[in-house]
Amino acid sequence: MSKPDPNSLLSITGRMGHLTPQKSFFGTSRVVDDFEKLNKVGEGTYGVVYRAKDKKTNEIVALKRIRMERENDGLPISSLREIKLLKTLRHDNVVLVKEVAVGNDLDQIFLVMEYCEQDMAALMDNVKKPYTPAEVKCLMLQLLKGIEYCHDHFVIHRDLKLSNLLLNSQGILKIADFGLARSFGLPSRPMTPKVVTLWYRAPELLFGDLNYTTAVDMWSAGCIFGELLKHAPLLPGKVEKQQVDLIIDLLGTPHEKIWQGFNKLPMSTIKLPEQRFNNLKNKFPHITDAARSLLSGLLTYDPKKRLSVKQALAHPYFFELPHPKHASLLPTHPEIRNIQTTRHEDNPKLKRQPPGDDTESIGNNKKRMR
Ligand code: ADP
Ligand code: MG
Repeated sequence: MSKPDPNSLLSITGRMGHLTPQKSFFGTSRVVDDFEKLNKVGEGTYGVVYRAKDKKTNEIVALKRIRMERENDGLPISSLREIKLLKTLRHDNVVLVKEVAVGNDLDQIFLVMEYCEQDMAALMDNVKKPYTPAEVKCLMLQLLKGIEYCHDHFVIHRDLKLSNLLLNSQGILKIADFGLARSFGLPSRPMTPKVVTLWYRAPELLFGDLNYTTAVDMWSAGCIFGELLKHAPLLPGKVEKQQVDLIIDLLGTPHEKIWQGFNKLPMSTIKLPEQRFNNLKNKFPHITDAARSLLSGLLTYDPKKRLSVKQALAHPYFFELPHPKHASLLPTHPEIRNIQTTRHEDNPKLKRQPPGDDTESIGNNKKRMR
């Protein structure tokens, strides 16, 4: 949709240009003037995010402006139907969209979300001390529970990465940014493989598979697990070719015997480096066998053999010592929110690029893509 259709907007917001809350597709829509914007906390491809105060209740919320004009494949956040879907997702580990607020113009739609103090990428980039094994386990457990909820509700997130994982002041991890999410309960539409920020992008997407599944989220979860363990991005490719090379360097060269259907993928004919070994043991010498087995199960080439979220949650890693740390005991760094605010506002290079364009820009971008 290039311009919002006034009829469908009317049906979701229940209003056309006047500022009283109305009964609508979403229930009652508030107006954005009900909120006082305090500061910008994020700005990416799909929207600006503000910390804001609800003038009626004094509650602090996050306000994300949705760019209605942006055309996406699959399930764009700009799709009015999907904003509605987002509002129905309710889980401790999925950021809560409280309501939808509308601005003065037809295309001004804001998600009113619970506010989370920190995002995981800012924590990773600014805190020197790596997470302890019990902290990593706590974070992974929360991440997987959030993913399980999404997959149970027919939603593939498609852009799981640290900057889309938020932490609130009680150490509760929240999956955010459903800007690329897609509901696989809807009639199927052609999908583009150019989703998921490069570092977290599953091999089937890199090799051009158009029929991908919830397994793309599980690959991203594996990359996140590796990043938490290493305290550095696991596969920080700058362009797609390098991304493939990094994966091969870590896991060996993919072929039909280990990945059924590989030879049919559009990009499988490209010349790949010969690498016969799985290097997870060399790259992660100090983690337990169970931790390595979970990592390897998530970072499995064949999406059909890759661990599902339920298999991951049942993995022995979560049942061996140490026990996951209690979320409320996770280290907090409230000062980091400010560093991140400055980065988002002052350094446009840190913004995530649109899917499909990201490979060109990250070559110039020394810092983490958001
Ligand atoms: P995009 O990446 O499309 O710009 P996000 O939803 O990821 O959109 O938001 C961008 C950034 O804004 C996040 O990385 C995070 O730092 C911040 N942010 C998003 N939602 C919230 C929230 N509910 N509470 C606090 N900060 C948030
Ligand atoms: Mg984001």
